Amino acid sequence: MIPLEYLEIKEVDNQELFIIKKTFLAQVVENSEFYLDEFNPLLRRIFVSKIIEYGSILNLYFAFGKLGNRWGPYNLVEVNGKLQRIYLENISCSHCGWEGLIGNPSVLDAYIGAKNYEIPKSEKPCPSCKTKLSRHAFYIFR
Ligand SMILES: [Zn+2]
Repeated sequence: MIPLEYLEIKEVDNQELFIIKKTFLAQVVENSEFYLDEFNPLLRRIFVSKIIEYGSILNLYFAFGKLGNRWGPYNLVEVNGKLQRIYLENISCSHCGWEGLIGNPSVLDAYIGAKNYEIPKSEKPCPSCKTKLSRHAFYIFR
């Protein structure tokens, strides 16, 4: 289990989520087998590889929540003081070829365990040519 001082506990969509403080992400990766012992090995590998790849991105948070007797991973972005669940997706613009990482709030996997939630409607266009993207980009990380 991750030490409590590494975590910020927040109620998101009526579910208690354990958000790993950005300053401790490296320690969690380093000691993942010990700290993430509640995760099944495959989930732990995916979670850790995402932290390694995207952990330095500002405003992108890594969290987990309890689902019965197991744990599920979540990604969150904070916009206007509100934490939004998102699914990370690498996409490209079919119009201009721009490639980037977006936060998609419409993937229902992100809401497993949420007791009530509303999927935000706002959506960002391609940052390069302003065309509507093929996926729901609530947030563009890079
Ligand atoms: Zn474009």
